[in-house]
Amino acid sequence: PYSGPSADEILAKRKQYLSPSVSHLYKTPVNIVEGKRQYLYDDKGRRYLDAFGGIATVCCGHCHPDVVEAIVNQTRRLQHSTVLYLNHAVADFAEALASKLPGDLKVVFFTNSGTEANELAILMARLYTGCHDVISPRNSYHGNAAGTMAATAQSIWKFNVVQSGVHHAVNPDPYRGVFGSDGEKYARDVQDMIDFGTSGNVGAFISEAIQGVGGVIELAPGYLPAVYNSIKKAGGLCIADEVQAGFARTGSHFWGFEAHGVVPDIVTMAKGIGNGIPLGAVVTTPEIAEVLVRRNYFNTFGGNPVCTAAGLAVLRVIEKEKLQQNASSVGSYLKHRLSALKNKYELIGDVRGRGLILGVELVTDSELKTPAKAETLQVLDQMKDIGVLVGKGGYFANVFRITPPLCFTRQDADFLVDAMDLALSRI
Ligand code: PMP
Repeated sequence: PYSGPSADEILAKRKQYLSPSVSHLYKTPVNIVEGKRQYLYDDKGRRYLDAFGGIATVCCGHCHPDVVEAIVNQTRRLQHSTVLYLNHAVADFAEALASKLPGDLKVVFFTNSGTEANELAILMARLYTGCHDVISPRNSYHGNAAGTMAATAQSIWKFNVVQSGVHHAVNPDPYRGVFGSDGEKYARDVQDMIDFGTSGNVGAFISEAIQGVGGVIELAPGYLPAVYNSIKKAGGLCIADEVQAGFARTGSHFWGFEAHGVVPDIVTMAKGIGNGIPLGAVVTTPEIAEVLVRRNYFNTFGGNPVCTAAGLAVLRVIEKEKLQQNASSVGSYLKHRLSALKNKYELIGDVRGRGLILGVELVTDSELKTPAKAETLQVLDQMKDIGVLVGKGGYFANVFRITPPLCFTRQDADFLVDAMDLALSRI
């Protein structure tokens, strides 16, 4: 049994000693003390089904024994910087990761987070092309440092950053977007931006395949191939931000971009890659990677032995436990059940996503698509009381984000939908 400080004591310490920007999800926050696979346990020993672990990087399930063993064994042997000496862990993981990517995407840089990975990707694209302009779709999220916060296109995640050279394109959002699901029409906005908002040359286009923070929005089909074409013609590089959609989560593919039939010049990743260990990566071609030898590029802990040992263990678990196939089959079952719930409640405006990255958007008026922000919070809280944790997102904070560990089962999916059903019935 847990004998540590109570939720109230922790809350008081957080208020006194942590930045006021650190917030929590629920009105009465839960004190989580343990995790095992798709479950989390609070200080009273109560079990919760975790349908939002994907955001906290968990892809194999909390505390997966193979990943824990890899971390503990490597910590016992050596933890150090990658840069000074040789060690096999970083080389082994780079080789394994490169084997998961198509074409010439074979050179890996490791970082400690998704933000760092995207900062590095944008830097490399600007160096390679000699061009400063970067285009990203509205509603995207790419990180919280200067360059990535500029590329992020939601005012709720932006401070007073210098927005130099960054352009935000009309979002190819099939639910709220002006062109519905016609990806090619949205892509024309990117071409217009190149033609009328730049010199005609650009550095990079960066985008998620499914916008996670933005409320699980799958880019309209046909958008990415057309945009990649425009960007290439303008001399730019295409960056795929796979921080949320990558690592087998979409089920149909290992990477989110693959469902769109494109091959990026640079791919960035974090979250799922380390199953909870701080780790990010940028993968690109040998030719693009050369730009970093013009100066010294150094990252103390990027690719350190412990994190890369964890990363290698994660890749092995995904394969051993067939987690991509599981994301596909359990994900389509869950989406099917959520769609049935949409027929039952007018409050549900949209059910979307792929594999185990799904979104449920609540609206008070299905014609006007008025965001049901208060109802979303209420259902979120009630589901927690029933024992199911889901996330919340979207610019209007009215979308449930369902990104569980990839070991989620059909029974878990049933429990989640039944809990959502019960909570919605009480509104
Ligand atoms: N890209 C995407 C798509 C993300 O969702 C996030 C984090 N929410 C990031 C980048 C930034 O990752 P990190 O928080 O690890 O810096």
